[in-house]
Amino acid sequence: MKSVKSKLFISFTSTIFVILLFLSIISIYFFNLNKETRTLELLDATYTQMEDILEDDESLKIKDLDKYIDLRNQFLIIFKEDSIAFTNQSRFKTQEILEQIKYEDEHEDDSKKYEDRKEQLDKKYEDYYDEGFIEIDDYVLTINSFEKDGEYYEAYLGIDEKYLEQSLDDIYGTIIVLNIVIFFLLTFLGYLLINKTINPLKLILNELEHLQSSDDLSKRLKENKTKDEFEELIISFNKMLENVENSVENIKQFSSDASHELKTPLTIIQGEIELIKNKEASKEELKAVINKVDKEQKKLQEIIKNFLLLSRLEKEVQSNKRASLDKVLFEAVELNLDFIEKKNLELILEIEEDLNVNFDEKYLSIVVNNLLTNAVKYTQEGHIKILAKKQNKNILLEINDSGIGISKEDQNKIYERFYRVDKARTSMKDGIGLGLAIVKKICERFESSIKVKSEINKGSTFSIKFKA
Ligand code: ADP
Repeated sequence: MKSVKSKLFISFTSTIFVILLFLSIISIYFFNLNKETRTLELLDATYTQMEDILEDDESLKIKDLDKYIDLRNQFLIIFKEDSIAFTNQSRFKTQEILEQIKYEDEHEDDSKKYEDRKEQLDKKYEDYYDEGFIEIDDYVLTINSFEKDGEYYEAYLGIDEKYLEQSLDDIYGTIIVLNIVIFFLLTFLGYLLINKTINPLKLILNELEHLQSSDDLSKRLKENKTKDEFEELIISFNKMLENVENSVENIKQFSSDASHELKTPLTIIQGEIELIKNKEASKEELKAVINKVDKEQKKLQEIIKNFLLLSRLEKEVQSNKRASLDKVLFEAVELNLDFIEKKNLELILEIEEDLNVNFDEKYLSIVVNNLLTNAVKYTQEGHIKILAKKQNKNILLEINDSGIGISKEDQNKIYERFYRVDKARTSMKDGIGLGLAIVKKICERFESSIKVKSEINKGSTFSIKFKA
């Protein structure tokens, strides 16, 4: 596995490499570091030097030019009326080059002759003006003409290509060496920078290894005041650890509560069976035992059904469904109608039509049924009122009863699993204390909020705000 450091380092160095390569190409192009421009630069410099000398010293003889011009890598042939007036190369070499630029000599006067000569040259070397020079053998030549003391001269100024290439190679060499130096310098600086940036991550990893080897869930990463993403990472990781710790605590609490709740009906069933196992029981006694066992096994079933519902809620719920609240409410009312009538409670319904909410219908009916059953269960006389209406962009549901009410202190606890208010007051009601925990969890899943307002002996109102 490659470390983040080496990945960063590789991408850093390759970026530097590409940038330097790009800059070199741009600079070679931008500063015209190519053969053509170098040639013209060198030849122009020599020609200007020659012109300056001829202008400055009028008495200077053409044949003495080499005393004044430094012609180490260039050669100069000055030609007058078919004869060589000056050359700094051997006559043989000079002749050889001139041979290649022959022309017809049919001119009336000198000035006409040089114009024709230029025309001929232009024709022969069509590309001459494009590039600005002619290539002959290993030489690159420019041709000029000038006048001195009323006489016309032709100047063939040339440069050895090998020298040109050498001087270009020197420039390219310098660029390469410079690039290598800059590359290693930047790579070194980059290495230091990456090291400094990555170090906090290494510290975090070390600490995590320590955490892994310890069973203590209350441990946290040491917070570094680096004021960057690493600090944020540590803070959110610690928050995650806190959530994990809370969840584990919850699960522990849940399993201990659950086993306790499961144990109670089982103990009752076991007791009842023990009671009649070793004696001749009458028909009535047997019937009473069977009724008790049946009641407790139903309770067990109810507990297990709710456990399954709670565990399914963690993974199964899809929050992109739609449901009709009014339809679900009427179905719930119908289910509880017998119960309401038996208790002689007044039922008030204020339910608007077309109340579509962002909810899964199956889970919406669990929520509504739990709240309505509780309202009926904990109300001995008076009324049950259901109100459902649109409110701004939301939909509001209120289930109000005139029952026993819930104290302020208990209002915060009723959503906890297995929590049942004041056992003495509610003991006569069936229940396992999971209903509201499930309601709250489902509401959270569907981004709806649930609230309770209640006063002892006056009644309770559970309200839910749904997303429309
Ligand atoms: P249970 O199975 O005991 O009804 P719930 O989770 O549904 O469990 O409710 C938790 C507790 O909240 C109940 O035991 C009861 O004490 C209280 N409670 C819930 N709804 C009402 C209500 N409408 N009026 C009074 N108390 C209520």
